[in-house]
Amino acid sequence: MLTKPDNAYTRTVGDGRRATNIIGGKPVPARSGATIDVASPSDGAVFASIPRSDGADVDAAVAAARAAFETGPWARMSALERGRLLFALHDKIGENAGELAALESRDAGKPARQGVADVNGAMRYFEFNAGAADKLNGDQIPFLDGYTALAMREPHGVVAGIIPWNYPLQILGRVAGAALAMGNTLVIKPAEDASLTTIRVAELALEAGFPEGVFNVVTGYGAEAGAPLSAHPDVDYVTFTGSPVTGTAIQAAAAINNRGVTMELGGKSPQILFADADLEAAMPVLVNAIIQNGGQTCSAGSRILVERSIHDTVAAQLAERFSALVAEPHWADGDLGPLVNAVQADRVAGFVDAAKAAGTPVLAEGQVSGDAPAGGHYVAPVLFGGVDPESDLARQEVFGPVLSMLAFDGEDEAIRLANATDFGLVAAVWTRDGGRQFRVARAIRSGQVFVNCYGAGGGVELPFGGFKKSGHGREKGLEALRDMSATKAIIFNHG
Ligand code: NAP
Ligand code: MG
Repeated sequence: MLTKPDNAYTRTVGDGRRATNIIGGKPVPARSGATIDVASPSDGAVFASIPRSDGADVDAAVAAARAAFETGPWARMSALERGRLLFALHDKIGENAGELAALESRDAGKPARQGVADVNGAMRYFEFNAGAADKLNGDQIPFLDGYTALAMREPHGVVAGIIPWNYPLQILGRVAGAALAMGNTLVIKPAEDASLTTIRVAELALEAGFPEGVFNVVTGYGAEAGAPLSAHPDVDYVTFTGSPVTGTAIQAAAAINNRGVTMELGGKSPQILFADADLEAAMPVLVNAIIQNGGQTCSAGSRILVERSIHDTVAAQLAERFSALVAEPHWADGDLGPLVNAVQADRVAGFVDAAKAAGTPVLAEGQVSGDAPAGGHYVAPVLFGGVDPESDLARQEVFGPVLSMLAFDGEDEAIRLANATDFGLVAAVWTRDGGRQFRVARAIRSGQVFVNCYGAGGGVELPFGGFKKSGHGREKGLEALRDMSATKAIIFNHG
């Protein structure tokens, strides 16, 4: 248990206090003593610091996780007790919801209400997995006469979770909820751009009663802390959410030890509008699916495919909404906040400039608020029409408030365009024709397909993950519990 919360990153945001790693139940700085400044994307002002960890810190965290997995009280705990601890963590997060929401908002530049939504999302992950902990059965397998064969579900052991900056709390919830429900221990490496709420949740896990060493956090840069974690020979399983390029590096690192991985690598998710779609219902959903979190969402609906006969109507309605959008600091709780850092803002601006230079029609542009501080990383939303299906804009993950419209003729072309990227994470089909709903949903190569709705990533109950470059393995729902465990067959010869 944490006996001295005063030593840790607790309720001290803003007074320059140093956040710590959480290793073996203790708040500890990096062994080297190095730190990384933490700034808010809204104004660029430094307000805290996190440890700049390296391989030595990773070794200590993995050793703590290994010890907790093999010898601590966790190793003997029933699934029911693990579920109760997850419920207790859910409650602790609830008691600290205001602080966590404000911290997430400040650290990642999220509009205030998005911080609240992310806390609620994280709580739902812990609640769902708490309830599921003692519900996932193994199997008895019909086998030879005189034998009984069982398929047991066993934890992998030490799970490394490398998580990105876009939804730290929610992604932590989905990774940790499932991993802990199945009896694994954890080492989490959050993104250096948004680590603070992860540290705070690890502290709350100790307060909730999780044994020391079950939930470890090591902060720092990907190359210095993430790389040694994913290559660590004593890590049993690696789960990662982020870019395909980093995903490849992490898989290669895990392959050195032949370890299993779950990869959630983003998308270029299409929303298909047929001429009979309910546009009034669709319109706010289409805008929100790309504007939420400034478009920094793996499941952002970043392509609108429109049947040509309604193209101009849809373009006009979307343009009206887009031109009213304003990017503002997180505290203004506006339509969208800044992007997470200068690199991301430049990257998004690069896509926009290239598309404009290629003559892609700009149908509408939003604005950056005049009150936005100069040190923040703001990008105005842009709606492009007539986007070339072969262009980078149509094919690559922009990860910003940039929406592409493409026209199609007929169902076959809609399906072809929907599938014409390397990604396959989420899609939506908007039509009143029941047969078409099924045909198109079945034909799209993506982990989730929404019909007449869109749920950026969907509910915690729904399996989530990619086809193609969007990755492999499934998170959320009961599927996540299967991924976070391995099957062991036990065969009895009893004559
Ligand atoms: P990224 O490189 O994929 O980073 C995600 C996480 O991986 C962070 O915790 C990062 O640490 C860590 N990491 C980086 N290099 C690593 C390595 N060699 N070994 C182990 N861990 C490593 O993403 P990014 O550079 O922040 O963003 C670039 C693009 O990725 C975005 O524009 C977007 O297209 C995509 N992205 C997708 C998602 C998603 O939800 N699918 C999330 C984020 C980004 P540090 O950041 O601390 O260095
Ligand atoms: Mg930050």
